[in-house]
Amino acid sequence: MKYSLKIEDAKEIAEWYQKNKRQLPWRDTNNPYDVWLSEIMLQQTRIEAVKPKFLLFKQTLPTIQDLANCEDDALMRLWEGLGYYSRARNLKKCAITLVEHYNTQLPEEYKTLLKLPGIGPYTAGAISSIAYGLPAAAVDGNVMRVLARYFEITEDIRNETLKKEIEQTILECFQEDSTPSFVSNLNQGIMELGETICVPNGEARCSICPLQHTCKAHLHETTDTIPYRSALNQRKIIERTLFIIRDGDQFLIHKRADKGLLAGLYEFIGVDAHLNKKEVIQEVEKHNIHPTHIKRLEDAKHIFTHLEWHMHAYEITVEQIEHLLQKDYLLLNKQELETKAIPSAFKKYISYYTIRK
Ligand code: SF4
Repeated sequence: MKYSLKIEDAKEIAEWYQKNKRQLPWRDTNNPYDVWLSEIMLQQTRIEAVKPKFLLFKQTLPTIQDLANCEDDALMRLWEGLGYYSRARNLKKCAITLVEHYNTQLPEEYKTLLKLPGIGPYTAGAISSIAYGLPAAAVDGNVMRVLARYFEITEDIRNETLKKEIEQTILECFQEDSTPSFVSNLNQGIMELGETICVPNGEARCSICPLQHTCKAHLHETTDTIPYRSALNQRKIIERTLFIIRDGDQFLIHKRADKGLLAGLYEFIGVDAHLNKKEVIQEVEKHNIHPTHIKRLEDAKHIFTHLEWHMHAYEITVEQIEHLLQKDYLLLNKQELETKAIPSAFKKYISYYTIRK
């Protein structure tokens, strides 16, 4: 074993967690559905943004069966604001698999969980250990940061081999103590330390950390430089111009393709280029759209994981809108704009016409 977490320190973490854990809606129970849903929502999304969404989701779809039966549009609406919509689509896909093949239950075993749509090693470890108390490791970026500092690891924490070694370290602890409460509290304790105490950017609060007496980075004052995380490739910048086509209270909306970015969601049509007013007229006339009035709206920017949209937008008023309807297009009035699953990328423009936040 390259790294070995001392069992005494592991117990300190588990006890610290028991006493100091934050009260969060999904922590009132170890219901597997709650654990699964919260872990998926928390990927890439801040805890404060997840809390109200989790409560609303559970209130609307209280069971796995309800999730499997949910209409796609309603699901996307429930997911709005959390971003990365493929997570919601995978949740439903997984719920359908659970209904059809697993008696509408999430399996207990780590390896079985890994076979399900949208469930990777971290989520499988979290469900197996937190919901069922089985000895599985759940290693995410927070866990990597805490243990990289504890062991004073200078390697890149994006390295997959290092991640496997850290998982192994945690599994070794479970060989010494595999009681369900210890398993669950140790995994959640390391995550919680990473979220609340051993935070990034040189702001670790070592004086209140249960590992302060044995953590090498703290003892050697290297917490500012550890962990090392290599930079991801820079995001690609896409210039877009949106055309908000309206006839009075009616807006022309397009449904995106079922694959790729924002798959299956609704959008204002547009092109991948920044156009001036004259170019906009030329572009829309190609599609038989004849504006009676054009108004430039404010610019907006939306950041995805690997790319950024830098958007110009024009409100384009037409006299006749019905003839523009074709496959994958629909006309929505202001009230309907409120209820459709329109991604937050278009939030700024939706807010011109609705009271939607
Ligand atoms: S002692 Fe400091 S650096 Fe070490 S794990 Fe705790 S908070 Fe992180």
